[in-house]
Amino acid sequence: MVLAIRVHQTGGPDVMVAEDIDLTPPQAGEVRVRHTAIGVNYIDTYFRSGLYKTTLPFSPGNEAAGIIEAVGEGVSDFKPGDRVVYLHGPGAYVEVRNVPADKLIPLPDTVPDEVAAASLLKGLTVQYLLRSTFEVKSGHSLLFHAAAGGVGLIAGQWARHLGAHIIGTAGSQAKVDLAMAHGYDHVINYAENGFVPKALELNGGRFDVVYDSVGADTFPASLDVLKPRGLFVSFGQSSGPIPPFDIGILNAKGSLYMTRPSLFAYNATREDLLASARELFDLIGRGIITIPIHQRFALKDAAKAHQALESRATTGTTILVP
Ligand code: NDP
Repeated sequence: MVLAIRVHQTGGPDVMVAEDIDLTPPQAGEVRVRHTAIGVNYIDTYFRSGLYKTTLPFSPGNEAAGIIEAVGEGVSDFKPGDRVVYLHGPGAYVEVRNVPADKLIPLPDTVPDEVAAASLLKGLTVQYLLRSTFEVKSGHSLLFHAAAGGVGLIAGQWARHLGAHIIGTAGSQAKVDLAMAHGYDHVINYAENGFVPKALELNGGRFDVVYDSVGADTFPASLDVLKPRGLFVSFGQSSGPIPPFDIGILNAKGSLYMTRPSLFAYNATREDLLASARELFDLIGRGIITIPIHQRFALKDAAKAHQALESRATTGTTILVP
């Protein structure tokens, strides 16, 4: 029997209950991983609340690091004892899990398990946002909302490494100070007076790209800070989804571009996944990106982790410890 957090009906954090479940041996092509650290991500709350659909009952969680205990038939790239991390659809809030071997990423010695579990999903998100959705180069100007969050603190450091000018927003003075220590040139407390005039003033004009994971609360104001033909990247909805709108707004605000990307589409092939992870872990290994793990919860307390994340009480990354 292994401890699992399970959701039998979608809703608030309390729908997550701790249960003992049976685990079958790994099937052909699978590997059994004993988790040492499990990443908590905002997307986990979307599945738990029912905003994103999956089959009930399920265990939330999309990433974890751990040690291989057993391999199924046909698996030759991995063996018991290997340290790995993975990204794989709901099911990670458990002590032990069978995972398809082609989802696993071997862990270099320079990346501790907790750092891997805290950084894979968020770091690969920043990787595609800054390197593919828009190829950020020296001199580009970026506005990044929720700068003190898990994705936000990685984005500030990575953008600085690329030579971009990056301005963040955050919901308190403490969060502003934290983001300033993680690569941002300026950070605006958008809980006080919004962000549009201050962002334009601090940037000395309009931006090439706005990265917006806040959603309802920052739209359509985010469009007001973009250069003509600038890019609006909507990659999350922490404050709720953006309501339906007239596409003519993109014309009116200066022939803008808009995209709504997903990490999973950018890492659909094994080659892309391994290449992106290599880039992330290389930057972590060289100390160019540090991963602040500010919240640790026992696996059985997953509901407390979600409460903290959804009430804006967290900064940086959060992990569950089995
Ligand atoms: P964060 O650590 O960034 O937490 C969310 C933050 O959003 C909060 O700390 C808060 O910061 C801000 N926020 C603004 N309004 C609200 C609100 N009403 N309720 C709650 N939070 C609010 O989370 P993650 O790093 O895990 O994820 C960041 C975002 O990136 C999420 O929206 C997530 O869905 C998205 N994402 C998208 C991916 C994709 O491929 N499309 C992949 C990975 C993540 P503050 O108080 O400073 O405003």
